[in-house]
Amino acid sequence: MPRLGVIGWPVAHSRSPAMFETAFAELGMEDWSYQRLPLPPELFEQTVHALGASGFLGANVTIPHKRAAFALADRASQAARAIGAANTLSFHPDGTIEADNTDAPGLIAALGRLTGMPAHPRALVLGAGGSARAAVWGLLDAGAASVSIWNRTPERASALAEELGAHAVPRPVQADLLVNCTSVGLQRSATEAEALNQLDLSADLLEGYAYVIDLVYRDSPTPLLASARRLGAATVDGLEVLVAQGALSFELWTGAPAPLAAMRRGAGVEGHARAT
Ligand code: NAP
Repeated sequence: MPRLGVIGWPVAHSRSPAMFETAFAELGMEDWSYQRLPLPPELFEQTVHALGASGFLGANVTIPHKRAAFALADRASQAARAIGAANTLSFHPDGTIEADNTDAPGLIAALGRLTGMPAHPRALVLGAGGSARAAVWGLLDAGAASVSIWNRTPERASALAEELGAHAVPRPVQADLLVNCTSVGLQRSATEAEALNQLDLSADLLEGYAYVIDLVYRDSPTPLLASARRLGAATVDGLEVLVAQGALSFELWTGAPAPLAAMRRGAGVEGHARAT
């Protein structure tokens, strides 16, 4: 019985179990299972080393363990090495652990939902944390014409830009594509005006982006996506990114094509979070 799971702290909110269980049901993989694995940082390394021997084939890794997951692996993909973080671990029969990063290619795959986007867009990434790191690397790797980074703490934007070959900017600059990699929008209480203010954006500035993607996901559209849609932008929700990275992890572990429609259904995409 092949076992999979998602390791995080906290991880109760994760939609990955529902997404994977729906995929297994769709493909008749009844003996496969996918569970939440809540692990505090102090238990991460020793527990992960024991998972392979406990019947786990692999695990997704989320906040705050992605860097630690990369660090403990015996082998890592080019994307994981370049980003310095892993969201997908595979446990091999010989006891070795392999690290991969499907966040970056998942984001690029989700961008495919934006009809008409230039093949080599100018991109502005908001944020300089873990997901921004993957987004900047992924966009540059996919041939973006330019990638600028704005962050609330400018020193972090400068450091990330220097490391990955992007440009740090003191204010949001115009671009074809806006990618929100901050956690602004998670807080349900924030109004659209407050969220834009936290991102140093105004409605006038936002109107200049034809394509907007928000990595944050929740039950209703984020304030950023709600504003962008009203201003006429084509948008992609964070749930689509979750599904895209999960689909790539699914294919790595099972060798089977991911049942995307089932995974989108399991993650709860239908109803509120589709590309416009
Ligand atoms: P992280 O490493 O903790 O980075 C958080 C970022 O948000 C930093 O750049 C931080 O700026 C910024 N930030 C936080 N509060 C802010 C505020 N009030 N105003 C302006 N900026 C603020 O987190 P992460 O791993 O990159 O994740 C970021 C978000 O993406 C989370 O909501 C996460 O759930 C989501 N995410 C979604 C997916 C998906 O599959 N859809 C995947 C990964 C992450 P400072 O540097 O100034 O602190």
